[in-house]
Amino acid sequence: MTGFDYEVDVAVVGGGACGLMAALRAARDPGLVVAVYEKSTKEGCNTQFSSGSLAAGGTRFQREAGIDDSPERHAADILAVNRDPDSAPIVHALCRVAPRYVEWLADELGHPVEIGVDMARSGQSVPRLHTDTGRAGGGRLVATLRKAVESADNIAFVDNTPGVGLIAETAGGRVRVTGVEVLENGERRRVGAKAVVLAADGFGNNPTMLAEYCPQAVGAFYGGVSTSTGDAISWGIGLGAAVRNMGAYLGHGLVVPGHGTRLNPVLPFLGALLVGVDGRRFVDEKAQGYSKLGRIIAGQPTGRAVLIWDERMHEIAMNSELMRESAAAGAFARYGSAAELAAAFSLPEQALAETLAAFRAVSVVEDPSGFDHGPLEFPLLAAWVTHGILTTQGGLVVDTTGRVRHRDGGPIANLYAGGGSACGISGPSAEGYMSGNGLLSALGFGWIIGDHLAGGGLKAA
Ligand SMILES: Cc1cc2nc3c(=O)[nH]c(=O)nc-3n(C[C@H](O)[C@H](O)[C@H](O)COP(=O)(O)OP(=O)(O)OC[C@H]3O[C@@H](n4cnc5c(N)ncnc54)[C@H](O)[C@@H]3O)c2cc1C
Repeated sequence: MTGFDYEVDVAVVGGGACGLMAALRAARDPGLVVAVYEKSTKEGCNTQFSSGSLAAGGTRFQREAGIDDSPERHAADILAVNRDPDSAPIVHALCRVAPRYVEWLADELGHPVEIGVDMARSGQSVPRLHTDTGRAGGGRLVATLRKAVESADNIAFVDNTPGVGLIAETAGGRVRVTGVEVLENGERRRVGAKAVVLAADGFGNNPTMLAEYCPQAVGAFYGGVSTSTGDAISWGIGLGAAVRNMGAYLGHGLVVPGHGTRLNPVLPFLGALLVGVDGRRFVDEKAQGYSKLGRIIAGQPTGRAVLIWDERMHEIAMNSELMRESAAAGAFARYGSAAELAAAFSLPEQALAETLAAFRAVSVVEDPSGFDHGPLEFPLLAAWVTHGILTTQGGLVVDTTGRVRHRDGGPIANLYAGGGSACGISGPSAEGYMSGNGLLSALGFGWIIGDHLAGGGLKAA
């Protein structure tokens, strides 16, 4: 290779879950020099701001808790929700590696993993979300991965150094990536690489791309990081890469307006109810994933609703960083009567009282077939909720090894993508997201791509 400022074997663009995992797995080959270019750790990555909930089917954590699950069952649940049968090969590939990397995070990196038996989510036929003990969220996951990267001799983590474009050539009608341009200390540098891994997440913070691909999300509360500007997806499109599911995004229906915090999505599954500004229920709370719920709440007259829950649910729901943040922000309060609650939210008192009197709190967390706790008991807790967008889920089309495909069907040589930069497994809209899909695509593709490169894939790329 010529015309480069310097050369590495593997250049990773983006230092979130996907990029860190890809680097760690590729660097298991001590002969490879890996560089991770990160736009800004100060701005942060979505992995860091996530709940760090890892969906995996068939782990030893589940077996120890008596939960019968498998990668196949996990894949079947995702495909039933995403309504995207064409995604089946990558859904299966990701679900196959998920239990392996969850156990590896615990056993090799010392990440404190537990199975969230109290984390029921729509569409998940068994408890499948793994979390850190103490529920500190994604910040702890990123700390675990970064610590491992720091101790790897053959990985350079280069912060405040955004990728600004791909270097490629066309020979015999085929496009081949030969490196990446980065902005190092304000200077454009040409880095030669045998493989480039695009792990720069999606375009949730790019208003132009959002308006083009996800018009429904325009104007919704944005709960992701500023760095998600769709850079990698745009470069791929520029090279002729195919894109898919560009209208897909991870929405949220339990964002507290005015605070920007979120309520624990387990609340509806514990028996919480949603009422509209008319004081009436408008949805089967348990039948919706929180992403789809966002679309339903967006359709309410004011784009808002009130979530109501009781002390028993609250005690369980507080076991999450989301609820602790909401509590610290003063995002919810307690109310001693229907009249007090109606007054606080300007709801019609009579309608609200009737709704509460008719409601029975059924929890599917303690008992999947539904445990009827009967009527709600005061004091009740309540908060306004609205819809938001956390991350986009569509992007560059990849095969089951994470190789980016050209619009003509063939691979773009030496180019890989995962996480929010790839086409995702959540179907074409906000309705196909199942809890855990985001980090599954990020860590799963990071694992697959890194293993492929360490296992001789560089020669084949
Ligand atoms: C609030 C919130 C909660 C969530 N909760 C969960 C959850 O519990 N479970 C789950 O599975 N998913 C969850 N998600 C989704 C999940 O966080 C994302 O899908 C996942 O983190 C994406 O990982 P990634 O590695 O692709 O991107 P990121 O983790 O965002 O990392 C991308 C990195 O690329 C960097 N970057 C961007 N552009 C460039 C560039 N040009 N050059 C260099 N670097 C660049 C960014 O700075 C960033 O560090 C949540 C998302 C949000 C926002």
